[in-house]
Amino acid sequence: MSPSTQTITLSNGVKMPVVGLGTWQSSPEEVIAAVKAAVKSGYRLIDTASGYHNEEAIGTAIKQLIEEGVVKRDDLFITTKAWTNQIAPGKLESALKESLQKLQLEYVNLYLAHMPAATNDDMSQQIASPVEDIWRQFDAVYKAGLTKAVGVSNWNNEQIGRALALGVTPVHNSQVELHLYFSQHDHVDFCKSHNVSVTSYATLGSPGRVNFKLPNGAKLEWAPAPSELQDAKVLSIAKKYNKTPAQVLLRYVVDRGIAIIPKSVNESRIKENFDIFDFSVSPEEIKKLEESKISQRLFAQDFMIGHPEDAFANERK
Ligand code: NAP
Repeated sequence: MSPSTQTITLSNGVKMPVVGLGTWQSSPEEVIAAVKAAVKSGYRLIDTASGYHNEEAIGTAIKQLIEEGVVKRDDLFITTKAWTNQIAPGKLESALKESLQKLQLEYVNLYLAHMPAATNDDMSQQIASPVEDIWRQFDAVYKAGLTKAVGVSNWNNEQIGRALALGVTPVHNSQVELHLYFSQHDHVDFCKSHNVSVTSYATLGSPGRVNFKLPNGAKLEWAPAPSELQDAKVLSIAKKYNKTPAQVLLRYVVDRGIAIIPKSVNESRIKENFDIFDFSVSPEEIKKLEESKISQRLFAQDFMIGHPEDAFANERK
């Protein structure tokens, strides 16, 4: 099987590539080149979000790749996400249509609720919309054919359970922070038992997150965290297989049956992150890697504090 065709089958039969290109913090200029380099290297999944402010540029790159005959629309898997204001009551369908217009697409392959906590447009007010109401809106856009699959991001098990209990379109995918130092076994077990596929974000430990700037130019405070790319056990497995530490961290997740969307705007790292299909990390090596027992959430999503749908409220106690 060629790397481009390695997929995970969602509960509705849709096939999702195991490896995609992440694009958070990729500027419009950077992302055009990154998407082109990625697709030419074999990537078929691109992960974006309205909140990344690069959907238009990604749409341009996709259009050019199709015009150049590099790839067909049907071979691509485009994921985008609705931000907190777009999951507020009555907002989702027009939000998805806006994303589709920017991406120059008739449908996306996966549409995610970026968060479980709705807010107003400038996030100055929390909106107490229960996840059931949010999920009914996802059910509607799926049934309208605007997306081939629907899912959630940063939702906890209980919230996903409440969406599933509605008995409408099931949650097809859960995208969560998941990496060696935040292994999320409980969440993965829960999702597997409910036939929900899982995508890991920050698989490399998101080393670039500390440079993130809010739209007003302010920087966020990030808790200091050890670098997984320098973990002694990761380095030792990398040496054994003649691969890089990044490739070992990515494979650690893929070998647990989880999709990955590493972000890079550097062509050689984009290729490196896709060149992971000639080795695997065994269950014994996964155990060994996890021996450090470090468990550190990097993305605390503090803006949810006090919201009735704060997904991480239990962890904050
Ligand atoms: P990540 O993929 O773990 O790390 C990306 C960082 O690592 C960038 O700074 C990148 O720099 C660097 N990098 C990439 N490949 C590398 C390699 N082979 N060796 C060393 N460094 C490397 O973190 P992320 O961007 O936070 O997460 C991945 C994607 O998940 C995002 O881009 C986004 O699409 C998604 N995401 C979703 C959420 C959510 O709430 N749903 C949150 C965060 C992220 P260069 O670009 O310079 O290579």
